[in-house]
Amino acid sequence: MPKLVHTPSPTPLWSSLPSHPIALEALNQAIQDFLEAPEHQDLSSHEIAACVRCMASSVKDLLATPLPGLDDLEGRTLPNDLPPVVDGHIHLFPDRIFEALWRWFEQYGWPIRYPLHSPQVIEFLLSRGVQHLVALHYSHKPGLAVMMNRYMAALSEAEPRLTCVATVLPGEPDAAQILAQGFAMGLRGVKLHCHVQCFSPDDPSLQEIYEVCVQHDQPLVMHAGREPKSPAYACDPHEICGVERIERVLQDHPKLRLCVPHLGVDEFAEYTTLLEKYDGLWLDTTMVLADYFPVMPPLDVLFQRPDRIIYGTDFPNIPYAWDREIRNILTMKFPPEMLEALLHKNATHFYQLPTF
Ligand SMILES: [Zn+2]
Repeated sequence: MPKLVHTPSPTPLWSSLPSHPIALEALNQAIQDFLEAPEHQDLSSHEIAACVRCMASSVKDLLATPLPGLDDLEGRTLPNDLPPVVDGHIHLFPDRIFEALWRWFEQYGWPIRYPLHSPQVIEFLLSRGVQHLVALHYSHKPGLAVMMNRYMAALSEAEPRLTCVATVLPGEPDAAQILAQGFAMGLRGVKLHCHVQCFSPDDPSLQEIYEVCVQHDQPLVMHAGREPKSPAYACDPHEICGVERIERVLQDHPKLRLCVPHLGVDEFAEYTTLLEKYDGLWLDTTMVLADYFPVMPPLDVLFQRPDRIIYGTDFPNIPYAWDREIRNILTMKFPPEMLEALLHKNATHFYQLPTF
């Protein structure tokens, strides 16, 4: 078996790899299998290094089994000396839907560290120094969206530091009207989730949704990355998602402002290319910069279009400290303008929030 230590590569082999124990465990297994394969016995250390780096970004089926929670320390407030922080991706739901979602996560995803209902979520983050919140939700059955949109509209009306988006189930009766009504209630944009709502971004049922967003100049957030794939979903995310489908949407709707969360996990390189080609595309960092999953995006995705990356956390549905992701971002030592763009300017532009 080739030994990496015999001929060290010029750049440190492990520097770009994830440091979390879960990440390392999965990665070490992948590397072990790779090194032991007979066809890899004659590779040079440089060739091995290249393969190991690409493995770090390609561990698939993130939720094949539930992941553990982390007992990491949390800050009382955001770290000092930060520019204003907008969390561009939190979740709020009516109590019973939230509780059902947490049960799903506990069984198939990860333990929920902060099982807080909507008012407590808002209070928790604002009292710790986050200046503005963008709350997303999604309906998974026809007929629920109107009730859920009313719920979100009431929350955002009561708290000026909270912006909420609408939901609709693609293909449900009156989908376009439900959305237009949500926008009229003060909701800003819409969130869709391919895995949960079981649709492909380029499905014909989506066209009316794209059109209504463009007509009303409202943004769309769509979980269109293929991961985290779970056997518990009714659809196979690797079948229904894929960067080429998003490219078709961007081509067909050049005026649409579209954000793909989680930096497009797991097609990071492909989404990096798409960012360069399409002005209508944004990505958010949610959870993938927290050093939790056994997959770490190549950081060039953040530098390709620094004006198109939005900071978000997925709070409260996370298995680790509420400020883990932002503390991890701070270790990356971005230039001040880039940090400002990431932490509030890009979200402000995308969601047309009040400026800070
Ligand atoms: Zn989310």
